[in-house]
Amino acid sequence: EEDTDLEEDINGVKRSPIITVMGHVDHGKTSLLDAIKQTDVTSTEAGGITQHIGAYTVKVNNETLTFLDTPGHEAFTAMRARGAKITDIVILVVAADDGIMPQTVEAINHCKAAEVPMIIAINKMDKVGANPDRVKQELTEHGLVAEDWGGDVICVPVSAHTREGLEQLLEMVVLSSEMMELKADPDRNAKGTVVEARLDKGRGPVATLLVQNGTLKVGDSIYVGTTYGRIRAMFNDKGEKIKEAGPSMPAEILGLSDVPSSGERFVVAKDEKTARARADKKAESIRQEKFQKSHKVSLEDLYSQIQEGKVKELDLIVKADVQG
Ligand code: GDP
Repeated sequence: EEDTDLEEDINGVKRSPIITVMGHVDHGKTSLLDAIKQTDVTSTEAGGITQHIGAYTVKVNNETLTFLDTPGHEAFTAMRARGAKITDIVILVVAADDGIMPQTVEAINHCKAAEVPMIIAINKMDKVGANPDRVKQELTEHGLVAEDWGGDVICVPVSAHTREGLEQLLEMVVLSSEMMELKADPDRNAKGTVVEARLDKGRGPVATLLVQNGTLKVGDSIYVGTTYGRIRAMFNDKGEKIKEAGPSMPAEILGLSDVPSSGERFVVAKDEKTARARADKKAESIRQEKFQKSHKVSLEDLYSQIQEGKVKELDLIVKADVQG
């Protein structure tokens, strides 16, 4: 009941946009993400060294932008497969000397299907073979017409190496997000999506959560898939300890019972017992689904067969174990 879709919170207040960088391999996604990270002066101040937690925030003219720092399509695909709408805007990187390539087309199709607006960053403008007009020409073949060609698609020529165009790119992101009037309600219990997670030798399961609505706090009990726990500690993208994280903010958290998968949704429960019950329920429903698939019969039917003495319970348990 709590895990309803993350629809816009019309009673909410303004929240920052969440941005994903996509594009063909080697077109400069990682370089661009790194270059953008460096535009934030706070991240270069002492004690505020940006950590890799899978998402980071930058300030642009008093506006905060949240970037998912996981280039490539896997994260996006995993999140979409789970029905999580995590991105407000996609920056589609196209190398000016290479043009539209298969993974560019794939990204365009993902964005169209998910109805996520795209801003095109025509990258590697410093290169001799850079040809932004060719990129725009190729874009039209996919129904994307650049603004200066009479369409509505924002194209910004940039170079992740020389940093040319980065400011304009970020300004365009801010402008676009303002027009989207993104909202969330910081007074609610938090919910959102797992960006990435891993097992840390000393600290146990560590997960980066992106809060999409509400405010996540240390001490909150959450469940995510078959995992649950009480948040023991929280860190921001600068590695600093924080007590809470509001809408559109990423937070690295400690305290989960297990490592969740990226793209999974998390929800705050009223207490740890409830969180555990939710996680257990999820685990049970997964078990039932597996069982049903491998036996082509529902668990209910099996239980009644047991009661009627047709099947020995032990046989079933053995079978279930064998078939996972
Ligand atoms: P990704 O696979 O999309 O993440 O691409 P990378 O960021 O790893 O970049 C691929 C290659 O292109 C690397 O060798 C980068 O140094 C280079 N590259 C990225 N951006 C630029 C740029 O703006 N100008 C030039 N000349 N090279 C770039």
